[in-house]
Amino acid sequence: MDCIFCKIATKETQATIVYENPEILAFEDIHPQAPVHTLIVPRRHIPTSNDLAPEDAALAGKLLLCAREVAKKKGIDQNGYRIVVNCNSEGGQMVYHLHLHLLGGRPLGGKLCK
Ligand code: AMP
Ligand code: ZN
Repeated sequence: MDCIFCKIATKETQATIVYENPEILAFEDIHPQAPVHTLIVPRRHIPTSNDLAPEDAALAGKLLLCAREVAKKKGIDQNGYRIVVNCNSEGGQMVYHLHLHLLGGRPLGGKLCK
């Protein structure tokens, strides 16, 4: 399968990894939209949030907790940050491997889009 985030997960493609465990990986976005822009992904290929199954509830929770931990590690937890999940074309999804965007380090304004 030709999936860039699977390749990052297997280290076939280089990325700046900030956290990893057997289930989850966090790495820096290649085109950052904010001083902190980290992507949190499951190692397993799940194309979109539509593909999360009920048995993925724990994994989904761990992705969120990982974002929280990275926010803390980057020192943006107190000022605040945004977590974004884009789904399919109208959601602006470009990479079809589920990921959370963690954005922060500057005021992000009132709009929901990045
Ligand atoms: P989305 O539009 O939600 O699918 O976001 C995909 C994100 O992945 C974009 O912010 C891209 O900049 C980022 N991206 C694409 N390729 C890479 C890569 N090789 N390493 C890190 N980030 C990437
Ligand atoms: Zn993948």
